[in-house]
Amino acid sequence: MYLFKRTDELQTYLDSVRSGNRSFGFVPTMGALHEGHLALVRRAKMENQVTISSIFVNPTQFDEAADLEKYPRTPAKDVEMLYRVGNEVLFMPEVKEIYPEGEKMDATFDFGGLDHTMEGRFRPGHFQGVAEVVSRLLRIVRPHRLYLGQKDFQQYVIVREMVRQLKLEVEVVRCPIVREKNGLAMSSRNVRLTPAERERAGLLYRTLQEARALSVDHSPGEVKTRALQTLRQPGIEPEYFEIVDARTLQPVSRFDQAETVVACTAVRVGDVRLIDNLLLRGEWT
Ligand code: AMP
Repeated sequence: MYLFKRTDELQTYLDSVRSGNRSFGFVPTMGALHEGHLALVRRAKMENQVTISSIFVNPTQFDEAADLEKYPRTPAKDVEMLYRVGNEVLFMPEVKEIYPEGEKMDATFDFGGLDHTMEGRFRPGHFQGVAEVVSRLLRIVRPHRLYLGQKDFQQYVIVREMVRQLKLEVEVVRCPIVREKNGLAMSSRNVRLTPAERERAGLLYRTLQEARALSVDHSPGEVKTRALQTLRQPGIEPEYFEIVDARTLQPVSRFDQAETVVACTAVRVGDVRLIDNLLLRGEWT
């Protein structure tokens, strides 16, 4: 596996292997890797000749300094895991490689409201930071395909919109959520849960499944109320539970109002923030 810390060295290498018929698959991550990340790498390997991953904890997408500081970092283990799954190129830049003039952002993206609901409401500026870093990484790597997890569904929708607005020639590939045995969506943040909290956090997925069952003969409003009741347990603090149109990310008041309807939720378990989502109606686009 080739490991680069510097942008110019990565680009020189990628230019030397770039040729007409070789496709590049790119998996951006913030490290503290788990099976969810590795599933993206495996998928990229299946569909491309060269797989490039990155590990970069992007400061501009953190709305709380303490959250950035507490973000888990396990670089040696990450390198080992990527090597084992056969990832070919790893980019691990320092902050100054990506933000040479300090953590300043170039553009203010207008996502037409996609970034103001759900995560955007609780994490102001988060998606501007995500769009900034992904656009910078895409311009450095210039992949044919970009692999993103369904786990961060709103992020996927927003990055896809950013790629469209910037007319970047990259296919955005959505990969399914990888879960623990109790249904908890894998996340780098899960290592900060105690064993009891980790068990308790299985409630998120059970609530989403219950919502899907209820959606057959209840309105989105009723399903939401019930889900919030289920989530309010000792040690769990729900932030939101929204039932949205997968295209606009706006809440629906009837299930037949949108082709694809998704339930998205965020909760705090102890001081760890967890998100998850489940398709309720229709098919992923
Ligand atoms: P992160 O390191 O949290 O920024 O995640 C990097 C990529 O991995 C993002 O596209 C995430 O959506 C994806 N990802 C994280 N957790 C999972 C999971 N449990 N299943 C599938 N993809 C995931």
